[in-house]
Amino acid sequence: MINLRNVRKFYGALEVIKGVDITVEDGEFAVFVGPSGCGKSTLLRMIAGLEGIDEGDLILNGKRINDVPPDKRGIAMVFQSYALYPHMSVAENIGFSLSLKKVPEAEIRRQVEAVAEILQLTDYLDRRPAALSGGQRQRVAIGRAIIKKPALILFDEPLSNLDSALRVQMRAELQRLHRELKATVVYVTHDQVEAMTMADRIVVLNKGVVAQEGAPMSLYHEPDNEFVATFIGSPK
Ligand code: ADP
Ligand code: MG
Repeated sequence: MINLRNVRKFYGALEVIKGVDITVEDGEFAVFVGPSGCGKSTLLRMIAGLEGIDEGDLILNGKRINDVPPDKRGIAMVFQSYALYPHMSVAENIGFSLSLKKVPEAEIRRQVEAVAEILQLTDYLDRRPAALSGGQRQRVAIGRAIIKKPALILFDEPLSNLDSALRVQMRAELQRLHRELKATVVYVTHDQVEAMTMADRIVVLNKGVVAQEGAPMSLYHEPDNEFVATFIGSPK
């Protein structure tokens, strides 16, 4: 579904993405994992169209989309910081993209309620974000992304602001959501355990290059290099 071919990115003279090749298959739950500063967010932002690509090709379903604007890509992104509108209710936050598209009120309400049901937010639709817990806020951010029925959802460290019990619960919820929506997911985290438990395929990044790509267990048992062995925590 997504192909990155020899993709590079510079911030001034600093090369932060150094020619990466990555493939994500249709319907997959792919996790990009690596230490802070290795370029995970930059890669996601390039896929979403929020950052330009300096070199290489970004292919979505066989079409080069380097120059397609973000709102024309059919991609939704969920950020670590939630980025909710504080003055809007939960229902208004979730339905906002539909109201921009002039979808009739009753139809928006219907779709918002369907999304709220999936995310267990039905009882909170009239609240403002400030009156929600961290986990509920993150669910609202996810609701805002999935109401657009994107074929591809990008998550940038969506659970890192949550306490550890909730993080474990939300991992399972996100996997269930992935199955129900039949969407392709690219999920970014610096947390190896999260990567190992959630991924169909892991892409390990280090300093702007792909250190290794593969199924979780194959990375664990057959790390290609010292970095992957140490980072994933295998006994080699
Ligand atoms: P990660 O998400 O893996 O922590 P980032 O993609 O945020 O990493 O950052 C990769 C590198 O690019 C880091 O060295 C970071 O300091 C640098 N960087 C990120 N955004 C910018 C920016 N807007 N301007 C300059 N440097 C940046
Ligand atoms: Mg980041």
